[in-house]
Amino acid sequence: MASDALDNSVTLCRSCDLVIRKRALPTGVRALCPRCHTQLYDTPYCSINGMLALCITAIIFFFPANTYPVLELEFLGSMRTTTVLEGAIAVYQQGYWVVAIAVMTAAVIAPGILLVSILVQIVIIKYGLQHSFLRSVLKQALKLQGLLTQLTMLEIYVISFLVAAFNLADFATVSFGFGTFCFTMLFIMNLFLLREYDLEHMWSFLEQ
Ligand SMILES: [Zn+2]
Repeated sequence: MASDALDNSVTLCRSCDLVIRKRALPTGVRALCPRCHTQLYDTPYCSINGMLALCITAIIFFFPANTYPVLELEFLGSMRTTTVLEGAIAVYQQGYWVVAIAVMTAAVIAPGILLVSILVQIVIIKYGLQHSFLRSVLKQALKLQGLLTQLTMLEIYVISFLVAAFNLADFATVSFGFGTFCFTMLFIMNLFLLREYDLEHMWSFLEQ
């Protein structure tokens, strides 16, 4: 265990092989090799407050993204709209219940739990690290994090409704509405949030 900690705190310069002791960096700062000035590493994570802002924004977009229509179709004068939930229900009613469960998990359930889980983690790190119960909640959330990240596949959903829109554009009028905007924003917020999220860094709060 002690040797692991030592290995993590030391890095090698890629150009001149100088051994450098890693230090925590302020946000937006990049570490350079003192001998040859090669870039070594960026801040591996944004501040907890930055992640909190991204997480809350994503949660705000989560609800309209799942309740407003993501795709509006006008075909022979009749207007059809569908939400993510209705899409999953329609697939289920056609007998493809495995697909329906996959859609619900990847586009609604997993992203929802993931966002709430990250929010809980951030709040505990900011305010509750001294309580042993909250520390164990944080520990469980961190253990679940990998699974939830793998199950969250918003990008597949974004691609699928773009493909549907291009395929249908020839014989129906396709329009994107408020729901599409919210879903896309949710996707982008999620992307940035997971880019900033660093599991090792989150674990390090428990070691203090
Ligand atoms: Zn160097």
